Amino acid sequence: MSDLKKERNAFFDELVENGLFIPTGVAGFYGRGGAFEDVVRQFGLLVGQYSESDGAERIFFPPLVQKTTLERAGYMETMPHLCGVVHSFSGDEGEHKKLLSAIKEGEDWSGFLEATDLALTPAACYPLYPTASGTLKEGGRLVDLDAGYVFRREPSEDPARLQMFRQREMVRMGPPELVQEWRGVWMERGESVLRSLGLDVVVEVASDPFFGRGGRMLSASQKQQELKFEMQVPIVSREHPTAVTSFNYHTSHFGETFGILSNDGEYAHTACLGFGVERIALALFRRHGMQPTRWPSSVRTLLWP
Ligand code: ZN
Repeated sequence: MSDLKKERNAFFDELVENGLFIPTGVAGFYGRGGAFEDVVRQFGLLVGQYSESDGAERIFFPPLVQKTTLERAGYMETMPHLCGVVHSFSGDEGEHKKLLSAIKEGEDWSGFLEATDLALTPAACYPLYPTASGTLKEGGRLVDLDAGYVFRREPSEDPARLQMFRQREMVRMGPPELVQEWRGVWMERGESVLRSLGLDVVVEVASDPFFGRGGRMLSASQKQQELKFEMQVPIVSREHPTAVTSFNYHTSHFGETFGILSNDGEYAHTACLGFGVERIALALFRRHGMQPTRWPSSVRTLLWP
């Protein structure tokens, strides 16, 4: 077993022993203990102070998105392997009998279900864009989506790679110069928030794990245009830090797709900033130990003011 795997497994065991993660038998799907959730909530309040002083609107969506939104946004072209669609039973009594007997026989019964018009949302910002169509007021919009759960089908033994996790996402929509200015503010702010919590941060130009050969070309162009930045901190290993925050500049992609216009009549530019909330909590437990009551007082004062 590689050293990285050993470290990963040891960290996972430690999380379980301390009641922070509750295993379910499925990789990447765990219950969270109370102490873990406390850290998640307090981090959310810390970040919320910034969005409140920026005057962000607060909007909440359940962890779902219309299937048509994924189609329109091009998600199935770039990330079909991460997608999860909600299926449901809509057959008659005869079909129901067959379904039950398939279960009894230990057969795969999923063929009796049909896809609905909903998918699990893969990014907290997706459900927002279709609701924003139309002309924005002067100065555009800033939305704080709080911590919405998102789903990505990537089962892994890495405790920092979950199938369902929360993103504290903020979305800026408006003319390009305002969106870019906001990006500049958060690039510095995001790093300083993480550093103030005692985390060693590296900021990197990054790309998404797009699917297939076409995807590799997209990733390369995304990197070249510096559309995505990540803040990485050590979780399992110091040498291979994990992305805990990502910043995505979509230029006019969502503006054009969903008919979002700036008040000058041009397609709005959009960008989103997402904190991977579970990953930040994991990084804090890794850095400061499994007992938050024993964390450094500088960190405790920020999280529990
Ligand atoms: Zn987003």
